[in-house]
Amino acid sequence: MIIMESETKTPSCEAPVESGEALELNPWHQAMEQLERAGAQMRMEPLVLERLRHCKRILTVSVPVRMDDGSLAVFEGYRIQHNLDRGPAKGGIRYHPQVSLDEIKALAFWMTMKCAVVNLPYGGAKGGVVCDPKKMSLGEVERLTRRYTSEISIIIGPDKDIPAPDVNTNEQIMAWMMDTYSMNIGYSCPGVVTGKPIEAGGSLGRREATGRGVFYVTRELANVRGFDLRKAPVIIQGFGNVGSNAAKIFAEHGCKVVGVSDVGGGLYDAKGLDIEDIAAYRSKHDTIAAYSKAEHIGVDPFLEVPCDILIPCAMENQITHRNAPKIKAKYIIEGANGPTTNEADRILNARGVMLVPDILANAGGVTVSYFEWVQDIQAYFWSEKDINARLQDIIVKAFREVYDLAQKERTDMRMAAFMVGLSRLAKTVRIRGTFP
Ligand code: NAD
Repeated sequence: MIIMESETKTPSCEAPVESGEALELNPWHQAMEQLERAGAQMRMEPLVLERLRHCKRILTVSVPVRMDDGSLAVFEGYRIQHNLDRGPAKGGIRYHPQVSLDEIKALAFWMTMKCAVVNLPYGGAKGGVVCDPKKMSLGEVERLTRRYTSEISIIIGPDKDIPAPDVNTNEQIMAWMMDTYSMNIGYSCPGVVTGKPIEAGGSLGRREATGRGVFYVTRELANVRGFDLRKAPVIIQGFGNVGSNAAKIFAEHGCKVVGVSDVGGGLYDAKGLDIEDIAAYRSKHDTIAAYSKAEHIGVDPFLEVPCDILIPCAMENQITHRNAPKIKAKYIIEGANGPTTNEADRILNARGVMLVPDILANAGGVTVSYFEWVQDIQAYFWSEKDINARLQDIIVKAFREVYDLAQKERTDMRMAAFMVGLSRLAKTVRIRGTFP
């Protein structure tokens, strides 16, 4: 194919103007650096790279909500579709005070890459609302969710863009989203969101899927590197959907989880923590930080405690140039999206720490979301055994593909995952061509 130079001349999209550490902590800047590095390494044609430097649709909405005290608060929300070449857009919804446009753009881009790495027929999207749901009542969160859903309903839909849970959103919020969309169109449409409760068209195994995928990836890593997973101490940052389920599944398989943490602080026990007991404690309290049967460690030093496997499952930018030299783990499995900055990647690579990147390591969530969507569309539901077996097949296959490429190209796992995803995207972009 001949690529016209004019197709590739647009300046890099909305380039951030910050410098130094601010750039290291800007997720969109980080994501674009990763794209450029992988593109250069595989000599990707400029047309494909240029398409991926831009988000296809960016919708900013204002979300007015009547608060319990009678006042009106207006929240800012986003829904961003980064790419639709391989299918409808897919990606979670985040409620957090630090949500920003650059963060949601990066998360949408990583969804495009993730769906391509595990070969799901989806493009990438992400949404978010700048709010602190922990300071809101259930009624306020419901009204926020319903109005936000109405505002973004012009671009979502089961064939267009399918949201799912992310940080501070859950099954109940997905049920409200599904109900709101359904009320607006006049019939029940379970396929518009995934991560719903079973009673509202959800899938068995979705709740645990991201943590389960993290476990499958780590078990496969142990197989190819030849170490005994049950003898490798694990620490997990974040005890929400991803972190708590990962901790439970590692413990169920006889692994020694020596540390877990949440935003309030960390817990450590060199002999292994009782994860079921901590999860039971968590269901009654806001944070696990005050759990009494383990040693307490502060949020920042937590990532530096001795372990073989570190699994960040909280937020972006947890491992930076500041703490990367002090990390003791031999392996890092990114349960969260974007937890490691590119500067930290360079330091960890130089130190021989092996990292399994987010776009592979946490793809179990979107994989079972895909299963949920397929089940909703067919109105035919599968057993949990089938779901977990199909999840394992997809994740193990993707891991092997990425690992083998990393060995062949003598590159790190993040670059290899990008190369696998980019080559799939490139084939679709090439064959579809550029409209008109
Ligand atoms: P969640 O809201 O259920 O849990 C987040 C957890 O992180 C909470 O325990 C919170 O206390 C903790 N946390 C926040 N800041 C922290 C900090 N500085 N130090 C320690 N802990 C901190 O969110 P989640 O759905 O588990 O998502 C976590 C990460 O995984 C995010 O990066 C998300 O994008 C990614 N992810 C989620 C899914 C999913 O299916 N939910 C799928 C793929 C990736």
